Amino acid sequence: VVSVGDELLLGETVDTNGAWMARVLSEVGFAVVGRWVVGDEDQAIREAVEGALESTELVLVMGGLGPTPDDRTREAVADLLGVTLVPDPGLLEVLRGRMRGRGFGALPEGARAMARVPREGGILPNVVGAAPGLVMEGPHGRICLLLPGVPREMRTIVREEAVPYLRSRWRGRLRGAVHRTIHTFGIPESILQERVEGRLPPDRSGVSLAYLPDTLGVRLRLTARTEVESKDFPGEGPADGLEDPKEEALGRLRAVEALLEPVLAGHSYEAETGDLAEAVAEVLLQRRLTLGVAESCTGGLVAKRLTDVPGSSGFFMGGIVAYANEIKSRVLGIHSRIMEERGVVSEAVAAAMAEGVARALGTRVGIGVTGIAGPEGGTPEKPVGTVCFAIALPEGTTTRREWFPGDRKDVRERSAQAALGLLLRLLEREGS
Ligand code: AMP
Ligand code: MG
Repeated sequence: VVSVGDELLLGETVDTNGAWMARVLSEVGFAVVGRWVVGDEDQAIREAVEGALESTELVLVMGGLGPTPDDRTREAVADLLGVTLVPDPGLLEVLRGRMRGRGFGALPEGARAMARVPREGGILPNVVGAAPGLVMEGPHGRICLLLPGVPREMRTIVREEAVPYLRSRWRGRLRGAVHRTIHTFGIPESILQERVEGRLPPDRSGVSLAYLPDTLGVRLRLTARTEVESKDFPGEGPADGLEDPKEEALGRLRAVEALLEPVLAGHSYEAETGDLAEAVAEVLLQRRLTLGVAESCTGGLVAKRLTDVPGSSGFFMGGIVAYANEIKSRVLGIHSRIMEERGVVSEAVAAAMAEGVARALGTRVGIGVTGIAGPEGGTPEKPVGTVCFAIALPEGTTTRREWFPGDRKDVRERSAQAALGLLLRLLEREGS
């Protein structure tokens, strides 16, 4: 996949076309091996396409098909492949009609370039813009598809024209991909990997795994390729009456998921948005539990995460940001003696916060979080990143002390995530 444009090369515009195209090609059943971004320059375009063609059968080139002198793609690729471009009279008429339709007179010289098409090869009509997509054939039957860069035009042509063309040309050789994502929290990538690999058969049932970490957790992405071709456009269901070949692949994914369940128990969740708060909200709503939160170092982040979830008013009663010790005493009823003896960042204080907020707000469940987000305030016993949290449930209160790496923002985000994670684990354990 080659994206062409100075603005893309220099980062003024993000190459969203490249990302979209790679995803679509992969779902259609191609193995995508590389993406290139080059500026509006003949030599750079030629080199990228030439390099890409060395190791592939199909190259998609996007951008640079317009009417201005910086639009170089058509000529550069034709020249590289030895393809002759000729004006297409029908297309010229269409372009003239578009121009007239918008109230302008004769077609400018530059716009005529958009009607130049390969003498042998195909045109992928553009019903939402001017420049059509082009099919150019290179040596050994290798194919270059050229597409305009305007994202709406590119996507429409791909959906309506390019995907059907590719499916028929590569008939019998395409294997669509299906994915499932398991969201995990509270478990480092390397340990997750060890546990996962230990559970799976050597062939992994034909499922490939990707570990995608960020500060909140590691997403485990499972991919299976279909055994037969998929007919539907990626992201849309199969046409009526067709059996979906993805079902078989999905079945293999589910089998792998089931194998992994025991080693991921207590560390994974299901959520459409990928957000742990969504999973927590679901359980709270289902169990008809009300929740209040008392936060110190997270400054309301736990409350924010929960209230981001639509429908949170069904369980979330409120939150108290008890930053000052005086507020911890006066509003949450924590004895100053506990804070002096155990320290403000302690499991005892976290427990008192969780119980205090549940009492103050009249909720069944309380969360308490207190920690040192930094950069100041750490001590040898309690370095920056030390966070204590507690979950108060009617059955009793559970506390944890953890240390999180990173800067102030990371520590706060990880703290909120860990508090939500602990709540989910406790609710799941109880519910089972
Ligand atoms: P072009 O076809 O190169 O003249 O591009 C037309 C418009 O589409 C410009 O505004 C580009 O910034 C935008 N565009 C081109 N390529 C991409 C891309 N790969 N990703 C996102 N936008 C793009
Ligand atoms: Mg351009």
